[in-house]
Amino acid sequence: MTTLSIRNLSIDYIGPRSDFHAVKDVSFDVGRGEFFGLAGESGCGKSTIAFAISRLHRPPALIRKGSQILIEGRDVMALDDRALRDFRWREVAMVFQSAMNSLNPVLTIVDQFYDVLKTHAGMSRDQARARAAELLALVDIPAHRLDAYPHQCSGGMRQRIVIAICLSLNPKLLIMDEPTTALDVVVQHEILQRINKLRKDLGFSVLFITHDLGLMVQVSDRIGIMLEGELVEVGEAQSIYRNPQHDYTKRLWAAMPRLHGARLQEAGR
Ligand code: ADP
Ligand code: MG
Repeated sequence: MTTLSIRNLSIDYIGPRSDFHAVKDVSFDVGRGEFFGLAGESGCGKSTIAFAISRLHRPPALIRKGSQILIEGRDVMALDDRALRDFRWREVAMVFQSAMNSLNPVLTIVDQFYDVLKTHAGMSRDQARARAAELLALVDIPAHRLDAYPHQCSGGMRQRIVIAICLSLNPKLLIMDEPTTALDVVVQHEILQRINKLRKDLGFSVLFITHDLGLMVQVSDRIGIMLEGELVEVGEAQSIYRNPQHDYTKRLWAAMPRLHGARLQEAGR
């Protein structure tokens, strides 16, 4: 079963004089429970794709006719406003770039969970508190943090809280758009290992967007490489790492800090 299926996705930014083709005829699938990494240099169209999948794209972004985005067979583009409200938490949840700063500074952690759980699952305060404690435990955060404010938590902890909030309604697809770039390498790695275990336990799929190739190859089952709006290579992470086909991928690997084969396997995906 395919969680996400993208076919011939083209997205333009409509300008007063000319249009900019940010995403050009991109097709790929993310299977159920799969960890898919999408990489490419800054400006190649990764976030544009992530926003389109979440139906969060806004003008001047325009998805071209003929593009198709399916989540478990459902046409994302056909959803009306009402369907979208549920879709955003139950089907797809997105952790944005620098998400650790996206928590509301004047609300305690439990209240940030309550916002989502009340609106989208009709939970009472007590129910939301119990569910929030459960979700925090998934990302290794003790329940006493429920009453803390964001500024009382470290960057890595805030990041894990955002991820836990995203998992509130058991989404089928978790999109993470450069979620850990502001964190140090060790913390980044720990968070991704944690996500990797969770998606195996809970069964959701991950679309992980990054420009950190080493990290991507270590944690992903399959990867896609983008160049100037096009998906130039897609397949098993290990096979693309060992045997890149496209010139651009070869150049990317050559420019990447050394990674040893043994270590990649040790990473224990
Ligand atoms: P990435 O996430 O891979 O860094 P983006 O998807 O953010 O790339 O951007 C892809 C391209 O689209 C970039 O060249 C960027 O300048 C352009 N772009 C992004 N947002 C807009 C916008 N609102 N208006 C015009 N062009 C945009
Ligand atoms: Mg981006």
